[in-house]
Amino acid sequence: MIQVIEATKTFNAGRPNAYSALRGVNCTISAGGLTVLKGPSGSGKTTLLTLIGCMARPTSGRIILSAGVAGALPDFAGAGEIEITSLPERFLTGIRRLAFGFIFQQFNLVRGITVLENVMLPGYPLGGNHAALKKRALELLDQFGIARHAASQVELLSGGEAQRVAIARALINDPLLVIADEPTAHLDSALSHGFLEMVAGLKSAGKTILITSHDPIVYQSPLADSVIEMRDGVIVGDGAGGGAAA
Ligand code: ADP
Ligand code: MG
Repeated sequence: MIQVIEATKTFNAGRPNAYSALRGVNCTISAGGLTVLKGPSGSGKTTLLTLIGCMARPTSGRIILSAGVAGALPDFAGAGEIEITSLPERFLTGIRRLAFGFIFQQFNLVRGITVLENVMLPGYPLGGNHAALKKRALELLDQFGIARHAASQVELLSGGEAQRVAIARALINDPLLVIADEPTAHLDSALSHGFLEMVAGLKSAGKTILITSHDPIVYQSPLADSVIEMRDGVIVGDGAGGGAAA
């Protein structure tokens, strides 16, 4: 689905505090399964995720989306695979909105607005029908068992409920790829297992999922089809996860 070729990322390039967070990364995210990107804190996981998620560009190297992803984007219908690294910003924004759903560390729900509004938020830039967007958001809340909290302010939710809202929000635009950065980092083990149950549901719905994590509950999970291991800005291991062995 996504191929990363010799990607490097240097922060503060040309300055005394220049730092190479990625030093030539090659990896492939396959369609229709769970890929876990594991590695200690500071190894470059989030940096790689921002490149894959089209939130930042590599300093050098290439990132290629498969024809299957390109076909889901109106600008690229019939284009075959696309090399996104050199595309103008407005295309990257479109790819982010249409093809990807993001679950952020600590969930980043927007305070001061309701659960329903949080879930609808990523749908607004697509400019679709408001009633249809609201209906879809309510369906997602229902699917995750939190419809009764639709009108609640997010600050009143429990950890488990907030997690469900974050997943519903990531799914609002029906993305091909769901990207989560250390989703269990601040959860107790019961909630972490709960999160993985929801990931199992996404997998059976045919989503491709990419999770960064240094939590063994995640990278040792039987749900993981592929585990890519990072250290100091390079990939040191790339193999089948528990799911693929089963
Ligand atoms: P991980 O997610 O694996 O913990 P990161 O990708 O966040 O690692 O960071 C990798 C390295 O790059 C770290 O040493 C971090 O301090 C550095 N880094 C990340 N973002 C920036 C930035 N915007 N400016 C400078 N250094 C950064
Ligand atoms: Mg990180």
